[in-house]
Amino acid sequence: MKSLKIVLIHTFLLSALVVLAGCGGSQADKAAASSTSERIKVVATFSILGDLVQNVGGDKIELYTLVGPGSDTHTFEPSPSDSVALVEAKLIFENGLGLETWLDKLYTASGSQAKRVAVTEALKPIAMSKEGHEADGEFDPHVWHDVANMIQEVEVIRDALIAVDPASAKTYQANAEAYLSQLKELEAWVIVEVEKLPEARRKLVTSHDTFGYFARRYGFDVVGSGLGSTTEASDPSAAQLVSLVEEIKGARVPVVFVENVSNSRLMEQIAAEAGVTLGPALYTDALTDPGGDGDTYVKMMRHNVTILVTALSQ
Ligand SMILES: [Zn+2]
Repeated sequence: MKSLKIVLIHTFLLSALVVLAGCGGSQADKAAASSTSERIKVVATFSILGDLVQNVGGDKIELYTLVGPGSDTHTFEPSPSDSVALVEAKLIFENGLGLETWLDKLYTASGSQAKRVAVTEALKPIAMSKEGHEADGEFDPHVWHDVANMIQEVEVIRDALIAVDPASAKTYQANAEAYLSQLKELEAWVIVEVEKLPEARRKLVTSHDTFGYFARRYGFDVVGSGLGSTTEASDPSAAQLVSLVEEIKGARVPVVFVENVSNSRLMEQIAAEAGVTLGPALYTDALTDPGGDGDTYVKMMRHNVTILVTALSQ
């Protein structure tokens, strides 16, 4: 009897404490809690797209990027925390065009109800050539190397954020406008820089086939690549390597480039066999870690164009 009374008293005291705790807390705590809960949770599939989304979303969103800086989207393996992020998200921004081969499975397995937005949907994709490497998809997913494509993507991101969070529409519009003016300035700069390079020197050989859109937009010729359109492809056969080396020699390409998302061994071998220079690393499918000279999309493009123009001029 006595022990039951004690239990009841304890239960009463505990309930009282819970009620008190609920009533407590300073105004500042409450404000912080409500501003956190107002931020909408958004997922971006990879670092370059994440930078665009963050620029438009600003402090109205809480962004989770699945494939971080320096990591390769083609070979990504999701972890359980990625699944949790998808479940909590309201919106998922993805590149599409076959870049995120792992996303459908991850999305279904997570049970996420988030709206998926493929930011490339309104763009004109480049079809992959039939004689490509085995792992190539139907379309070339590397749209980001053409700044004009990113300008369109920012508009898609802005509209998608406004649709799920109309209360913050003005912020998204203002953020997008400010960022679009940076991208337009970048686009004009790229065109001026590329013009410094005679057309006959605008020839690209890189680790994997990532510069199709860049070439189409800025008048370059993609002579070849070590791998296909994805870094997932197995190393080229001896015969493929011989024909690439012949093409490099035939096109008089002075320099070939490695990339931040793939290992440099293959390009070292190709450069040695073709008797050409191995250029510095280009930032192709991922940003650099924060603090690096390619930690935003704008900086990444400036880095790549500067290296290409400098190395191919020599
Ligand atoms: Zn790629």
